Amino acid sequence: MTEYQMVIGGELVAAADGQTFEVVEPHRGTVVGVVPSGTARDVDRAVSAAQDAFDGEWTGMAASDRGRLMLRFAQVVRDHEEELSQLESRQIGKPISGARWEVAQVAKVLEFYAGATTKLHGSTIPVSRPGLDFTLREPIGVVGLIVPWNFPIMMAAWKVGPALAAGNTAILKPASYSPLTALRLGELALEAGLPAGVLNVITGPGPVVGAGLAAHGGIGKIAFTGETATGQEIMRTAAGTIKKVSLELGGKSPNIVFADADLEKFASTSPYAVFDNCGQDCCARSRILVERSVHEQVVELFAKATQAVKVGDPSDPATEVGPLVSFRQRAKIEEYVASGRDEGAQLVTGGVRPSDPTLADGAYLMPAVFDHMTPDMRISREEIFGPVVGVIPFDTEEEALRLANASPYGLSGSIWSRDMAKALRSAKALRSGVISVNCNNSVHIEAPFGGYKQSGIGRELGMEALELYTELKNVFVDIS
Ligand code: NAP
Repeated sequence: MTEYQMVIGGELVAAADGQTFEVVEPHRGTVVGVVPSGTARDVDRAVSAAQDAFDGEWTGMAASDRGRLMLRFAQVVRDHEEELSQLESRQIGKPISGARWEVAQVAKVLEFYAGATTKLHGSTIPVSRPGLDFTLREPIGVVGLIVPWNFPIMMAAWKVGPALAAGNTAILKPASYSPLTALRLGELALEAGLPAGVLNVITGPGPVVGAGLAAHGGIGKIAFTGETATGQEIMRTAAGTIKKVSLELGGKSPNIVFADADLEKFASTSPYAVFDNCGQDCCARSRILVERSVHEQVVELFAKATQAVKVGDPSDPATEVGPLVSFRQRAKIEEYVASGRDEGAQLVTGGVRPSDPTLADGAYLMPAVFDHMTPDMRISREEIFGPVVGVIPFDTEEEALRLANASPYGLSGSIWSRDMAKALRSAKALRSGVISVNCNNSVHIEAPFGGYKQSGIGRELGMEALELYTELKNVFVDIS
């Protein structure tokens, strides 16, 4: 079993008080790593290392040189793609194919933002006084990046990329289920030649280390991805120092199927839109809204496609769905399945532990499809964050959109129809940040990603994300 260390100021260090915690793989329940359990003292150490780095060569460095260093960082990640993928797969039980895709995304995100370093600029403004007015986009300083466990290293890259490209220094705090790849990422940043203290990685309990970052007076901004309730807590904590806060939170995304859609394509691809990553995906299309005339046909096709999804050992390249992240999480999802039944939804398939004896020691649950879900049921209202989907029939376009929007969340969603006018009308009417038409692709590195309503504040990815990591200064010059 490997012992890991935090990355602070270019050094690999234990927690200030020497405490550690164990990371347990959900496939077999064995310990895969021992990690420092940081405290407020470690937050202080990381903030002062990041501030020193910000005050040092990093800030004076030409944007193109910063970009070149980030490109080298991307290359070092590529060089360690298999190692990082194996680590990611083991710590959270992610199928290895998904882990390889995720790590490849990390390198691409870093490459995108390496190129963006020289494209971040202000503007000139024709103000009403005689003179020259222009804006400068400047880094905020030290930023805190708090990430979840479902796409651990990719969520980290979505924040590290724009934060560093904009010239900040950063402190990354991974989730306690999944700190191993983040710690390796911090080490690889040093190997790539990033100056000491530019990227620090600290580990430990969210309410201690994460909250410590949110409260710290030396940090100018928190970028957070995680649960809506944690986001609310972070906003409250960050209020004490009027920090900038950007939030990527939960979702309860609709998958709207009109009768004129390509139903075969919908049914063969959409199980992955909710069961991929074992349903632990903020964009999971966990509510299927289907036009009543094709309701039964769609449920039958979708259930059949779900039964064909390969659930199994994450290390097997053929596995499509692995275990949940933990046994605690599985117990929570099983409660949701029971509540769906109790409230009168009809369980069409799944929702039970697999019969395969080789999976008996893991946190597995077969993908569950509920029919006849109604909007008032718990499984329809709450983000389950597990392999559970419910189907609700509708009669009109207006009803479909009303049902889709009747959620405190507004992250993503799909619309299936061959009538492009209807699809685009629906895309405009949905109160969500990311919409897909006739597919379920929500994420593109070059395009903004984020949520309406309680799904978040701000946008990640694309050039839009850079704005989250900058201060905007206006300068007026009297030239009379
Ligand atoms: P979480 O429990 O909110 O944890 C997220 C991160 O916050 C972890 O690093 C956690 O540390 C830390 N944390 C916990 N309590 C904290 C506090 N009081 N102050 C500061 N930080 C704290 O979320 P999760 O269970 O890891 O992730 C699942 C959630 O993330 C789902 O709701 C999902 O929808 C959302 N998500 C959203 C997006 C998006 O882009 N919109 C993407 C992925 C996931 P510990 O692990 O040590 O507790």
